[in-house]
Amino acid sequence: MKRKVGIMGGSFDPIHTGHLFVANEALNIYKLDEIIFVPTGDPPHKAKLRADSVHRLFMVNMAVLSNEKFRVSDLEIECKDKSYSLNTLREFHKLYENTEFYFITGTDAVIDLPNWHKPEEVLKLCRFVAASRPGISIEKVNEKIDEIRKMFGGNIELLQVPMLQISSTEIRERVSRGGSVKYLLPECVEQYIIKNELYQRNGDTP
Ligand code: ATP
Ligand code: MG
Repeated sequence: MKRKVGIMGGSFDPIHTGHLFVANEALNIYKLDEIIFVPTGDPPHKAKLRADSVHRLFMVNMAVLSNEKFRVSDLEIECKDKSYSLNTLREFHKLYENTEFYFITGTDAVIDLPNWHKPEEVLKLCRFVAASRPGISIEKVNEKIDEIRKMFGGNIELLQVPMLQISSTEIRERVSRGGSVKYLLPECVEQYIIKNELYQRNGDTP
């Protein structure tokens, strides 16, 4: 029997309950052995003010402590060049033998898949799972998934889960204006943000 491992990539700037909830749903529904969270590296030219990779990695590490099946990889953060999901998947295939990978994203990310680096190759290396997220209708997502399948083949599916209207953007905005982020993310992450004075200035709006 092949091991089944979920990969959840993202900037995690910061990680929040939406990420953790979706990962746990995928874990249970697909009976995965584990889920690896892979924070992206720092982009070469920072377009926005945001927490650097050391902080983002630290917050992800703290957030996964409460789930024994959640792990973290610093593979993309340690990568000096721009990291593509394709390279990440290739690396994981080298590291884990006899394993089927489930690449878990939100529905906003699957829509963007045609713009990824070599989507066809990415889809050969994983089962692609798009978890429902507010903002895009299920009909629209299904339409998009059909289009992408026709273009690139592969195994892409929609995972319908209770939708949580939580985003890192919203959290950064709230922190910058002194609003509460309680219950939108793990308490330890909230404390970390306060202690390190992250997201004090809003880099998302001019
Ligand atoms: P930002 O607002 O900065 O873009 P984000 O909340 O979208 O942050 P990301 O780090 O960009 O978080 O997302 C990583 C992955 O998690 C993406 O595939 C995204 O679609 C998914 N995701 C994030 N939040 C949710 C959510 N509330 N429900 C479902 N999927 C989510
Ligand atoms: Mg996002």
